[in-house]
Amino acid sequence: MNKRKRALWGFIIGDAYGVPMEFMERDSFEIHDMIGYGCWDVPAGTWSDDSAMTLITMQHLIEDTSIADLKRAFCNWVYRGHWSYNDEPAFDVGMTIAEVINRWETKGPFEAAKADEQSNGNGALMRILPVAFYSYGRAIEDRYVNDYATLTHGHIRSTLCCFHYTYMVHALMDDLSLEASLARANEQLLSKLNDYPEEKVHFERILNITTLSREDIQSNGYVIHTLEAVYWSLLNSKSYYDAIFQAVHLGNDTDTIAAITGGLAGIYYEELNIPNDWMALIPKQEEIDHLINRFVKVIF
Ligand SMILES: [Mg+2]
Repeated sequence: MNKRKRALWGFIIGDAYGVPMEFMERDSFEIHDMIGYGCWDVPAGTWSDDSAMTLITMQHLIEDTSIADLKRAFCNWVYRGHWSYNDEPAFDVGMTIAEVINRWETKGPFEAAKADEQSNGNGALMRILPVAFYSYGRAIEDRYVNDYATLTHGHIRSTLCCFHYTYMVHALMDDLSLEASLARANEQLLSKLNDYPEEKVHFERILNITTLSREDIQSNGYVIHTLEAVYWSLLNSKSYYDAIFQAVHLGNDTDTIAAITGGLAGIYYEELNIPNDWMALIPKQEEIDHLINRFVKVIF
């Protein structure tokens, strides 16, 4: 598998591995397998909103459809099961995403996302990986990341997290070490923060992520806490599997954090090395693989 393919599969497998433990408290479980029927009534291997929105974004980028069409595709996912694991309406949709998609569904695709400070969940960050790949080497990252992030999350903090993650994707694609990747991403973020000085305080911990211990990490759905958990998991891992294991075992927003971590770990580590039966449990495995192959071909 090439890096992009590993990253996209790494994302989906991380999501599916984390789904049953979502909302569970840290250190209240230890799971080494792909299980089902935890906090959601879904079979082992089930992937969630993170993967669905990522796959829909990939399809949109491959087929070069309009932004309005992309929003309609998100509506079709939530209400009619388009790119859901079982063709049924979505089972796990975050609050901010649910609200804006409901407005697109009822009022039309030109409704804007909420931009207040409270609307800073991880719902834009969790679907930005295809955009990060699409913008790699194209010198369009600013416009692309901003435009796609703000479809659902209008506050600058969420967008800045999407930027930092994109910078990390690009640095790892350039074969930099983790430390060098973080250093370059931090530098790029700091230059962005010049335009938003009031936001800097919220990024201090991310800028100093190597100094944080597990106890410092809050693995919830707030976009800043999610990104901190992702970087901590990657920094404290020895393999792809170890990275998603660390991510899931932080507890709380396990699926999203493992998915976003898995995206980076898939680029960074040369093999996913997951048990074969994990892959076989993933619903729509062939359809997903076909979409990933098309995406990897188109974005080169
Ligand atoms: Mg999810």
